Amino acid sequence: MSSDPNCIFCKIVAEQIPSIKLHEDADTLAFMDINPLNPGHCLAIPKAHFADVFSIDAATMAKTATTARRLARAVNAALAPPGLNLVQANGPAAAQSVLHFHFHILPRSESDVAALNWAPKPGNRDEIAAIAERIRAKLER
Ligand code: AMP
Ligand code: ZN
Repeated sequence: MSSDPNCIFCKIVAEQIPSIKLHEDADTLAFMDINPLNPGHCLAIPKAHFADVFSIDAATMAKTATTARRLARAVNAALAPPGLNLVQANGPAAAQSVLHFHFHILPRSESDVAALNWAPKPGNRDEIAAIAERIRAKLER
């Protein structure tokens, strides 16, 4: 299993630094976020080190998503927040601060200030279609 000695989440997996664990299986781990946006904010990660969605393999991502779903249901049942986002960041403009793939299980309140909310405004249909063409050309099987 790949591990990065400088990665804080790899250190959590190896129990070199403490975490408040919620779930552990052979391939994934879930633990509480130490800087919670709201009560119940936690993280689901693969035990193996992958920096982001671009490098993780599909099977490991699917296992991590299954753990995130399980945690989301438990957080919802335990705390009944009025909303919950699953958030997964890749790269500096997406505010990724830990370069080990993770899903945030993020309970929401109406009054919180998470910056991911945006006001929808209609885009240009031709531009949207042209960008879709560029993405379709890069879809892997
Ligand atoms: P991101 O900004 O999407 O990369 O999220 C990284 C998250 O990891 C942040 O919400 C941090 O609060 C959280 N985090 C960083 N170090 C730890 C740690 N030692 N234990 C638990 N959560 C952590
Ligand atoms: Zn790591």
